[in-house]
Amino acid sequence: MQPSDKALVPFVSVDNMMRLVHHIGVEKMIIELAAVIEADFKRWESFDKTPRIPAHSPHGVIELMPTSDGEAYGFKYVNGHPKNTSEGLQTVTAFGLLADVYTGYPTLLTEMTILTALRTAATSALVGSYLAPTNAKTMAMIGNGAQSEFQCLAFKAMCGIDTVRLYDIDPNATVKCAANLSGKGLSVISCKTPEDAIEGAQIITTCTADKKYATILTDNMVGPGVHINAIGGDCPGKTELHKDILLRSDIFVEYPEQTRIEGEIQALDDDYPVTEMWQVMAGQSKGRTDDRQITLFDSVGFAIEDFSALRYVKQAIDGTEFFEPLDMLADPDDPRDLFGMVMRAV
Ligand code: NAD
Repeated sequence: MQPSDKALVPFVSVDNMMRLVHHIGVEKMIIELAAVIEADFKRWESFDKTPRIPAHSPHGVIELMPTSDGEAYGFKYVNGHPKNTSEGLQTVTAFGLLADVYTGYPTLLTEMTILTALRTAATSALVGSYLAPTNAKTMAMIGNGAQSEFQCLAFKAMCGIDTVRLYDIDPNATVKCAANLSGKGLSVISCKTPEDAIEGAQIITTCTADKKYATILTDNMVGPGVHINAIGGDCPGKTELHKDILLRSDIFVEYPEQTRIEGEIQALDDDYPVTEMWQVMAGQSKGRTDDRQITLFDSVGFAIEDFSALRYVKQAIDGTEFFEPLDMLADPDDPRDLFGMVMRAV
């Protein structure tokens, strides 16, 4: 028995996601994703929100990230295992699903490892477009792993940077990142220390992976007027910045209830004031107000960004060949005759 079209779920494999990225172009896709994320942040109050649901182990964390706007429902499965790279595996992998709230039927299943890198970069640069100093031209990129090239290209495409200064404790990661960024329209400078990397940078992105309270930046490394895009501290017991930097910064977050558990601000009191980025985008709160202010985006990654990305992909694959129809929903002719359908399949 052939499943009807309504029971076939479009599935975007890693291979098809890569074809989609090439079809659209990395920077164009980041810009388009950022537009969808911004539109969804502006209607923040129409979403169900909850901190993501983690399963911690000594090896890393596995998380579920659900949300819904009442019409569509989405979730992402994502892991964070910093020790994986030493075993030839990735720190972060993900897949996600979109569903129709009216029927409860899934409408998209997709790889989200590549999509997470794109949506994280899109969110970072979108936030940077509100908070980074105007005319910022140089970004320090500390942590040159899987996310790093996406971050650099997002800030080039959306915030107008023309120079990146790379640093990683593993020089091979910096060599890889510099090679991947060659010919992409950025001046790329490989640095031997984090102090060298931040020299002259108006934007500092930290995107390292270590399951501990790390100190990637100390207080004396951060001068007035800088925007810090802190990506890597996204789990209890896993942060990147010295607490004194937080106390000198104006802190901007996605969803405080989740960031207070997972972000840099886990080092601060539960009522320490932070600004929600959706309020800045909706014009309800101020972003950067002066040239000497240190702005800090304490990014942990929130479910609405993935929901935006899922909806973007669903629309982007429409009418293309970048997906396969997946037979993942039982579809008996008589909806109550599931057993009969199984028996007739002999
Ligand atoms: P990755 O393992 O591919 O890269 C991490 C890099 O950090 C490695 O090259 C490693 O050598 C480097 N590093 C570790 N400690 C360092 C230090 N002290 N100084 C300089 N470099 C150091 O991981 P990835 O996929 O690029 O992810 C990076 C981090 O970003 C992870 O912690 C991940 O959980 C987080 N992340 C956050 C979001 C978000 O939305 N905020 C999204 C995706 C990933």
